[in-house]
Amino acid sequence: MTDTFASNMPAGEIPCVPGIAPGTPEEANFEDHNREDHNRVGRLLAGLRESAPSVEMAPQSEDAKFENQLALVRLGMATSLFYALRTKHAPTAAHSLRVALVCSAWAQQMRLDEPTRDRIEVAALLHDLGKIGIPDRILRKPGKLSVDEQLVMECCSQLGCEILRGCTSDQELLNIVLHANRWFHSRRDEHGPRGAELPLGSRMLAIADAFDAMTTDTVYRPALSRERAIQELIDGSGSQFDPELAIGFHQMLEQRPELLQGVVANRWLQQLQPSSGDSLWGSSTVPSTKGNFQIRRETLFYQQLIHNMKEGVAFTDREGTITEWNSVMERMTGIAQDAIVGQSWSNQSVHLCEHAPATDPDDTEEKEELLDRCLVDECLDTGAPVARSMLIKPESGAARAVHVHVSPVIGETPGIHGAVVVVRDLSDENDLVAQIESLHLESTRDPLTGLTNRGFFDGALEELTAISASGGPTYSLIICDIDYFKRVNDTYGHPAGDDALRSFSSLLESYSREGDMVARYGGEEFVLLAPNCDNATAAKRAEAIRQACQKNQLASIGDEAITASFGVTEYQAGDTAETVLARADRALLKAKDNGRNRVIQLGSGNQAQPAETDTKKGWRSWFSTDDPPQEGNVEILTPVPADLAIEKLRGFIADHTAEIISVDENEVSLKLNALCAQGGRRPADHQIAIRVHMTLNEMDKDPDKPLAWKKTRIHINLQPIRNRDRRNNELSACFTQVVASLKSYLMGEIQKTDLR
Ligand code: GH3
Ligand code: MG
Ligand code: MG
Repeated sequence: MTDTFASNMPAGEIPCVPGIAPGTPEEANFEDHNREDHNRVGRLLAGLRESAPSVEMAPQSEDAKFENQLALVRLGMATSLFYALRTKHAPTAAHSLRVALVCSAWAQQMRLDEPTRDRIEVAALLHDLGKIGIPDRILRKPGKLSVDEQLVMECCSQLGCEILRGCTSDQELLNIVLHANRWFHSRRDEHGPRGAELPLGSRMLAIADAFDAMTTDTVYRPALSRERAIQELIDGSGSQFDPELAIGFHQMLEQRPELLQGVVANRWLQQLQPSSGDSLWGSSTVPSTKGNFQIRRETLFYQQLIHNMKEGVAFTDREGTITEWNSVMERMTGIAQDAIVGQSWSNQSVHLCEHAPATDPDDTEEKEELLDRCLVDECLDTGAPVARSMLIKPESGAARAVHVHVSPVIGETPGIHGAVVVVRDLSDENDLVAQIESLHLESTRDPLTGLTNRGFFDGALEELTAISASGGPTYSLIICDIDYFKRVNDTYGHPAGDDALRSFSSLLESYSREGDMVARYGGEEFVLLAPNCDNATAAKRAEAIRQACQKNQLASIGDEAITASFGVTEYQAGDTAETVLARADRALLKAKDNGRNRVIQLGSGNQAQPAETDTKKGWRSWFSTDDPPQEGNVEILTPVPADLAIEKLRGFIADHTAEIISVDENEVSLKLNALCAQGGRRPADHQIAIRVHMTLNEMDKDPDKPLAWKKTRIHINLQPIRNRDRRNNELSACFTQVVASLKSYLMGEIQKTDLR
């Protein structure tokens, strides 16, 4: 196996399964074949419900009622978790449904007992729940994940389990989810269960999960054929997958090939639309003989609802007598439910008074009138909703500002049946705004230095790159790392080290301009993102910071100064945020390698050189057809000798994660992916894999001339790797993109080109 197939690979799976036209005999067959599965899947999320005491059977003691309510809350959460996952990333939810269907059929074929089967089904539905906690920039990343991003992805199972733990204590279920991505026998990971110690559900899920991931188009790889996917499963037997189960899975697919079709999964997905969702999960399928059960459940549901609302909620009957009083009302007014239910609603009895003072303080008559005006009476008399800002003044404790909204309750029979009062705590709202603001600040700031943190910086870098790529202004990135900082800690202690970090960040900030972003990238590594700033200016600015730093004596480290090394680069054509960062990082590494306390700048910047546009002369005349290009040929002349050109090429290969296909004397072939602007329906259509064949010739072979005088002429041939991309009308744009990037890396001039 060359790859690890699991659904926590770079996400973005978009279901692209062969469908069968609605209404055809094939679909009818599917309906028959899979009605059982369909019904069973209706039970999947309800599986948790079944492990809780049945509402129907429970004795109607207060305790039992409470337990039922708790169970309902837990089940409600389990269902909402799936909805939450779908909202976060619909393709993952769709994938989970398909995997659950396959697991369900497989468990049935294996004659697993009901509780085991239920657990596997629920685990399959929720095995990717952890993706809720994965940042979108990773989850939706079209390219390969970096090592750091993969590490974040690997937290998925653990994260999913943590979320699930909040709504179930079923350890067997949690274990299936926790180990769903573990290899059967991993050489990497010596700890934790392996082989048959892994839960059966996890081993089954690993196979069904990988199979679905392989047979679905993803952003980074088109779907494999069914045969190829099975072969991968067999190849991974014994290492990634349980060998016996892999064979069993293969046999099941042979016997029930319809499971490979997307019809059932697609039908489920349709039924998950809010309008038809009830038929799958809700109460409309409950037989009428269970009417009482149904009513009890609904009553419990509404009770649960009003007691879990953030607002205070009370009901009165037609006469204004209080019939319901939720816990928030208890908290806000200090009046217990038992003490108030059955009493008449009046402003005084519920400790409400007008919020705004009378406009004229002497006008006591108006004041009195305001105090006496009862919102509930007003609503019951007029039949119209009433809303007002007021104060609640509990007998003990401070007054709080609230917004009170009273609406009439109207039933099937004419007339008003009562009133519902909703009281919103405005002080909470103000607190909430403050909390959200401070949370936002916390999530974007580094606590030690107060600088922007790495996560926020990454987003800004992506944004600036997108702006520059679409023709906007250029930007530069300075990345710096304090030299020998470990020694500072070792000599003066960690608090002194912290102090030095704060001083260094203040220094960086004092050298930043309006619009710049200074961020702590990690440890003793910082970045300065400078919009509208070219390479030369950025290098000068870095040099100024470097000099200021080495002169800046720090009291906390005995009036010594620290030094730092700097890598600088400017955005250049064809860059992504990753390639800019990688180039700046390489520059920093060079600065360290060259002795530290220095600035190194890499890259040629964003000065676009117009490509030769002369249409049918010289080189272009080799290709005198007007058909869309099937290949492209460009010649670039670099001002450097071949060894330096190759060094620059190394940077291009690393930053574009290109693969070297072959090297033969002075020729090298690479494979890399270029992104299309539009692309097709499938994610694989959004990128074109290109083979870049380069022939390098050093110019001026005169042995007497110094090496520095030599130039390198590079002939580049570009071809799409997949034949079908030859007809892609974005091929030419992709070629241009690759050539622009190569030109920047090689700091060369385009001599000849047939690119249009
Ligand atoms: P180099 O010049 O190669 O960068 O050497 P270095 O010692 O600076 O680099 P190295 O990566 O070996 O050590 C970095 C040190 O930074 C180690 C770590 O303890 C320290 N460090 C990272 N974060 C903090 C922090 O928040 N506070 C303090 N005091 N030290 C930190
Ligand atoms: Mg360092
Ligand atoms: Mg470091």
